[in-house]
Amino acid sequence: MSGPLVAGWLRLAASRIAAERVHLTELDAAIGDGDHGINLGRGFAALDARLAAGDVATDAGGPLLLMAGRTITGTVGGASGALYGRALLRAGAALDALPGGLVATSTQLAAVVRAAVDGLAALGRSLPGEKTMLDALVPAVLALEAAGSAGLDLASATGRAADAAEAGARDTLPLLATKGRASYLGERSIGHLDPGAVSSALLLRALADVASGGA
Ligand code: ADP
Ligand code: MG
Repeated sequence: MSGPLVAGWLRLAASRIAAERVHLTELDAAIGDGDHGINLGRGFAALDARLAAGDVATDAGGPLLLMAGRTITGTVGGASGALYGRALLRAGAALDALPGGLVATSTQLAAVVRAAVDGLAALGRSLPGEKTMLDALVPAVLALEAAGSAGLDLASATGRAADAAEAGARDTLPLLATKGRASYLGERSIGHLDPGAVSSALLLRALADVASGGA
């Protein structure tokens, strides 16, 4: 996964977040404070503007992810900004540490995404099953790791990761939220999708679409 591919992912993610802004905000209105789409829309629009300005080098993926992490942390606000920002920073550092700063195999991609998700989980002090982003992200990492072990190419591996993330997001419906604002609702959080899990699945699907060249 080269710099231009990372740039392509970030730009596609920004346009998908913009398209889903109202939906994500409606999901957050049901069990949070109704700003998830607004928060992410602001951050990804700022990121897209930086990429479109053309003053950011796109030849290497690591520095791009670090720039993205700083931009998201600084512009999103809300829990999701800190969490996604941390994940992007960790992904950038992990990508930078690979030979040539390049993801060449699904196993390497799994390690980069694992570093990102572990960083997010540590910041949020959260685990899967608590009705958060992790309910989409952890199944995605496990799918990537399995795809890496099976020797699948990046397009197939990211496709499986996106499928796992979407299933994980759907499976937040019956969960009781125990982290974040939704936890204040207690039992009333049951029967709603977690907005962060839905946005995480959207980010994984954008990655799969870019990796398969179908975006
Ligand atoms: P805020 O909750 O500050 O309004 P957002 O609405 O943008 O921020 O994001 C809410 C999402 O953040 C939730 O749907 C959930 O997925 C995620 N989230 C909140 N707290 C945590 C946490 N401690 N660990 C993991 N994810 C969390
Ligand atoms: Mg919110």
